Amino acid sequence: MLRRFYLLITLLFPTTAFAGEERNCLPEGIPLPPGWNEPYEPHRVISNLYAVGAADLSVFLITTDAGHILINTGLEDSASWIRANIDSLGFDFSAIKILLTTQAHFDHTAALAEIKAMTGAKIFATPKDVRVLEDGGISDAHFGFCLDFRFPPVSVERELADGEVITLGNTQLTTHHHPGHTEGSSSYSMTVMENGRNYRVLIANMGTINDGKRLVLDPTYPGVSDDFAHTFRHQKAMQVDVWVAAHGSQYGLADKHTPGQAYSADTFFDPDGFKAEVNRLEKLYLDQVDRESDPTS
Ligand SMILES: [Zn+2]
Repeated sequence: MLRRFYLLITLLFPTTAFAGEERNCLPEGIPLPPGWNEPYEPHRVISNLYAVGAADLSVFLITTDAGHILINTGLEDSASWIRANIDSLGFDFSAIKILLTTQAHFDHTAALAEIKAMTGAKIFATPKDVRVLEDGGISDAHFGFCLDFRFPPVSVERELADGEVITLGNTQLTTHHHPGHTEGSSSYSMTVMENGRNYRVLIANMGTINDGKRLVLDPTYPGVSDDFAHTFRHQKAMQVDVWVAAHGSQYGLADKHTPGQAYSADTFFDPDGFKAEVNRLEKLYLDQVDRESDPTS
């Protein structure tokens, strides 16, 4: 599953560097991965965190007694099925008050504009993703030249500093700057009580490196290598009990969850899996730094 996903990503994100020329980047005739635009059974992850996205494009809903927070969207046509997923869980789509994203790439942001218009929600984002969200992807350091990676621009109401707490009703969500995948990539954490104990929950943006990204030699953006190093250092130091991420294949959705299964707070309990995945991605990062630092090897 994981391997197949990365193969698709390799197909989707070509290695050609930005030469100042705008063009389409999705290979012609190859459809998008089905896991990106087919809704998956919406389900409760833990406590007031629900998954309302596709099998491999995650959208998360956090419900509170003062309205809801939605994290990420799918592609541009995803608003209607995200709404249907939320309806089927018995929650009010129009009660979404805050829209967040873990990374300003089109596959996670393209329906923000429509959902904002439908709900009147405010958009909060990290400073470096604000720029990209507000120009619809044009200033993305890696994919800005890809016409077909653009998305409807949105205005952002609030910038989120590292460590900033977002409070809505009885929920407090902490922002973590985890840059690298995009300049403004971020994760969000909260602690929830279930079964008489606290669970530390992370909605993570993992440090994956899109194909063609350059870290050391002619870096895709200045400081990108330091950004990834920062992210791995901080993610390794986090205490995480339950985690999810921007793609189901990143957090093992298919292995951990079967449609129709009964809710358990422990379904996504996976502290060791989080550590292992961060370590695996860090190794890929270090290997690439080595390759770029010694191009003759
Ligand atoms: Zn991305």
